[in-house]
Amino acid sequence: MEANHSPSDPLRSNPFFQNTLSMLERVGSKVQINPNVLDTLKLPRRIITVSIPVRMDDNSQMIFTGHRVQHNQTLGPFKGGIRFHPQVDVGEVAALASLMTFKNSLLNLPLGGAKGGVSVDPAKLSMSEKERLTRRFTREIGPFIGHDKDIPAPDVGTDSQTMAWMMDTYSLDSGFSQTGVVTGKPIEVGGSKGRDAATGLGVVFTMEKALHVRGISLDKATLAIQGFGKVGMHAAIEADSLGIKVVAVSDVSCGIYNPEGLNVQKVVNYISENRSLKGYPEAAEITNEELLSLKVDVLAPCALESVITSENAADVQANIIVEGANGPLSHEADLILQENNVLVVPDILANGGGVVVSYFEWVQDIVWLFWEEHEVRSKLKQIMTQCFDKVWDFAQKEKSLDLRTAAMSVSLKRLEHAMKLRGQAW
Ligand code: GLU
Repeated sequence: MEANHSPSDPLRSNPFFQNTLSMLERVGSKVQINPNVLDTLKLPRRIITVSIPVRMDDNSQMIFTGHRVQHNQTLGPFKGGIRFHPQVDVGEVAALASLMTFKNSLLNLPLGGAKGGVSVDPAKLSMSEKERLTRRFTREIGPFIGHDKDIPAPDVGTDSQTMAWMMDTYSLDSGFSQTGVVTGKPIEVGGSKGRDAATGLGVVFTMEKALHVRGISLDKATLAIQGFGKVGMHAAIEADSLGIKVVAVSDVSCGIYNPEGLNVQKVVNYISENRSLKGYPEAAEITNEELLSLKVDVLAPCALESVITSENAADVQANIIVEGANGPLSHEADLILQENNVLVVPDILANGGGVVVSYFEWVQDIVWLFWEEHEVRSKLKQIMTQCFDKVWDFAQKEKSLDLRTAAMSVSLKRLEHAMKLRGQAW
C-alpha cells in the first residue's frame, strides 16, 4: 500500500515521472516482482531542493532552483548526472533518478541511482556565471554528496569543466582533494580516458547487436540521429567508423539529411566552427520532427525525453530505435511501436555506456591507478554486449517480451534480491 499523504504530488504532475510509473506497472503486470519492491521504487528516498543565488557579470543577482534527487541506494552509493536546462523541474529529475537506479542495477554496477538538475539555460550564461552557479550549487548539496555517498556526473547542459568545478569546490570545503566525488572530470584532474565518448560508444555497441538480431548487415544499415551533443556526436563517429551510413543528424536549430550518407567528420568540424548545424552545405535541411519519421534502419534519439509520443509514434518508419537519450519515448508511444514491430533498445541498456565508464573512473580515483583507453573501451564493450545478450535471452525465454520490459525485469530482479537480503523487502 502506498501512503496517501504524498510527497509525490509535485512528481506525479510531471508526465515524464508518470511515464516511469506506468512503465513499472507494466513490468509488474507481466513479470513476477514483489509488489512492495515495486511500490518502494516508485518514489525516491530523498529529494534535496536548494535555491542558488548567483552574482551575474553585471553585478545583479539571480536566484536559480536546483534539485538532487536520491532515488535508491540498495546496491551502493547514489549515482547519476547533473542537468542544466530550462525545462528542469523536480518531477523530471525524479524520473531521471529512477532511471539511474534501474540502469545501474541492469548493468550490474555496485551503485544506486540519483539525478540532479538546475533550471537554467546554460547558453545564456557567461563562463564565469556558469562557474559561480556550479560552485554555489555544489556547496548547497555538498553535505549530501561524497565518493561513498552520492557521485554526480555530467548530463544535458553540463560537461567535464562543470565536473572539475564541482570537484574543486567540494575538495576546498573538505580541506583535501577528493577526486572521486564526481565522475566525467577532465583527464588531468582524475578523469578517465574514454569517458567523453562512452555513452555514444555504448549506443553503437548495442546498435550493432540490434542490427544483428534483425538480420541487417552494418554496411547496408542507415542511421538517423536526433541530437548532436556529447551522445549523438560520438555515436555518429563510431557508427560511421563501422560502415553504418549516417544519413541524418540534428541539433536544436534543425536537422540535416543526405540519403547518400553524411560526411560525419565534416559535420563535426562544421558544428565546432559554427556552433550549430544550420547552413551545413552538403545536405538538405529538415526539421527534428521530419528526422524522427525518416525511412531508415535505425533511429537513435539522443537528445531529450518525450520526443516520440502517441502523436507521432505511428509516423516512425525505422526498423530499430536505440534510445541514446533518457526517456525519449512516452509509454503510449512505446506500445504503438511494439504493435508496429519496431525493435526498441531501451535507454537503461542503450545509453548505459556513460555510467559504466563513470564507474571505471570512480574505481580509478579510489585506487589512484589509471587505465589506458583500449582497456576502458574493451571492458565497456564487454559489459554492454553481455548486458544486451542477457536482456535478449530474458525476452526470448519469457514469451517474447519487448526489450524494455525484459531490461526492467532483469534490473528489478537484482534489486528485489538485494532488498530482501538487506531486509528492505519481505
Ligand atoms: N548522465 C549520464 C546518464 O544519464 C551518466 C551518469 C553517470 O555517469 O553517473 O546515464
